[in-house]
Amino acid sequence: MGYALYCIDPLPTTGYENFEMWQLRNKLPEWIPTTLIYLWYWYGQSLVKMSCAFLIIDSWQFHLHRIMHLNKALYRRFHSRHHQLYVPYAYGALFNDPVEGFLLDTLGTGIASLTTGMTPIECTILYTFSTMKTVDDHCGYSLPFDLFQLLFPNNSIYHDIHHQHFGVKFNFSQPFFTFWDTWFGTTYHGVDEYKQKQKKITLQKYRQFLQERKNKRRNAAIAKKMPEPVSSSSDEEEVVNEKKTN
Ligand SMILES: [Zn+2]
Ligand SMILES: [Zn+2]
Repeated sequence: MGYALYCIDPLPTTGYENFEMWQLRNKLPEWIPTTLIYLWYWYGQSLVKMSCAFLIIDSWQFHLHRIMHLNKALYRRFHSRHHQLYVPYAYGALFNDPVEGFLLDTLGTGIASLTTGMTPIECTILYTFSTMKTVDDHCGYSLPFDLFQLLFPNNSIYHDIHHQHFGVKFNFSQPFFTFWDTWFGTTYHGVDEYKQKQKKITLQKYRQFLQERKNKRRNAAIAKKMPEPVSSSSDEEEVVNEKKTN
C-alpha cells in the first residue's frame, strides 16, 4: 500500500532525509549495504511502527471489549447495539454506539499512532488499513483470495462466532491477532466445526439457488412455446363479417 501511494505521489527527497540517511550510513558498520539502509529508512521503520501499532490496537480493543461484556451496565448501554447484528455484514462493521466507536476505534488507533511516532502518511495507511480490516471481519464471507484472511489469524469466521448466541462470551480479540484470547482462555474451540457447518449451509443454499433458477428458466421456455390464445379482436371481426353476409 505504501508503494502504491509512493507511485501516485512520490515524496521528494529533501536535504533533511539525505542528511539522516548519511548519518545512518556513518553510524552503521560498512558491511551493511547502503541499499539496505535506504530501504530501512523509507520502508523498514514504517513496517516496525505499523506492527507495534497493530499490537497496541489489539491490546486496547481486547481489554475494553472484554470489560464491555463483563459489566452488564456497560454492555447494555454501549456494546449491545453492535451485537444486534447476528449475521454480520460489511456495513455493520462500524454499527456502534458513538461513545463505543470513539473509545474502541478512534481513541485506540489514535493512541497507537501517537505512541509509535507515526508520520501523517503512516497514520493515513494505519487508519485506512484498520478500517478495511474491520469491514472485512464483518463481511460474512471467507474468500480464498482475501489477503486480510490469509495474513491474520483473526478473520471473518473468528469474529462471526463472537456475534452468535453460542459464541458471545468468546473471541473478544479484534481486529488483527488472537493471542489475547489464548492468554485469557476465551478462545472458542469449535472454529473448524463452525467453518465446516457454514460451508455446508453455503453450498446447500447455492444449490437451491441454481435449482430455482433452472426451474424458472424452464417454465419461461415452456410458456414461450405454448400456442397463443385466439385474440378477442379477431372474434369480433368474424362476427361483423357474418352480420354483413346476412
Ligand atoms: Zn462483543
Ligand atoms: Zn463485530
